[in-house]
Amino acid sequence: LMGDITLKEKISEMSLAFVGAGKMAQAMAKGFLAAGVVKADHITATAPSCRSQPSLEDIGCQFTHNNKEAVENSDIIFLSVKPHILPGVLQEIAPVVTKRHLMVSVAAGVPLQFLEEKLPPKSRVMRVMPNTPCVVRQGASVYVPGSHVEKEDSEIIKSLLSSLGYCSESNEGMISAVTGLAGSGPAYAFTAIDALADGGVKMGLPRELSIKLAAQTLLGASKMVLETGKHPMQLKDDVCSPGGTTIYAIHKLESGGFRNLLIDAVEGACLRADTIA
Ligand code: NAD
Repeated sequence: LMGDITLKEKISEMSLAFVGAGKMAQAMAKGFLAAGVVKADHITATAPSCRSQPSLEDIGCQFTHNNKEAVENSDIIFLSVKPHILPGVLQEIAPVVTKRHLMVSVAAGVPLQFLEEKLPPKSRVMRVMPNTPCVVRQGASVYVPGSHVEKEDSEIIKSLLSSLGYCSESNEGMISAVTGLAGSGPAYAFTAIDALADGGVKMGLPRELSIKLAAQTLLGASKMVLETGKHPMQLKDDVCSPGGTTIYAIHKLESGGFRNLLIDAVEGACLRADTIA
């Protein structure tokens, strides 16, 4: 417990940079602040345009166009630009990366070996696959330590990511599958919520009520899976009374290939992650 407290204290004194101030960076920054694990004035985010400056400054973070300066002044650097932008950014910041810096890439599809090769020898590099629900501290993330990270680096990232929701250590061979399931997954859920709401509207419910019921139903089902530890199909069976309404709906879902579609979705995103960078 003592160790945990000192680690948290240490983290609260650290400065963080997000190189790339887009959606994922802002979701993580807001989550960290909501969790109270880092001080707002210890967070800097960078981007070439001023688009995200107002929303970052609103939450008390610093904004700059200068990637090198942001790296120089920070302990932990989240590389949060699009995968195809990352090689150029690595080349730009490499001259100022030192032993002080823990470099954490959230980019889909960019291998650790590539990151390590583009940065000075022995750089402490990690990969993280987060998702945008980090913003409400219900993220689902994995982290993969690179060749030169220390035990404490992993502990720091685990502690930071745990403040944003569920997280676990993984190996690089799994990270594209994690991308296909959890990284891209919120979009599948948003689409499901919208479609369920359409169903409600079609059958006469007001849109607003329909969206609330759809979202809360997914949230409730998710919590039951996580909190009861029961298999999802046991929970499904529990809702399907013989000859009742739910099994009629399940039949419709199965006829439409609902499961196949979801499996295909995860596979599609996973395969894309392998070719994106
Ligand atoms: P985004 O387009 O919202 O953000 C990218 C940011 O990088 C923008 O602020 C842009 O101005 C900035 N940028 C562009 N060129 C730059 C440069 N040379 N130097 C500094 N900043 C620069 O994209 P995003 O959705 O936030 O994705 C960022 C990364 O996060 C991607 O690599 C993606 O694979 C990863 N990721 C995203 C999600 C997600 O749900 N959005 C989930 C997991 C991982």
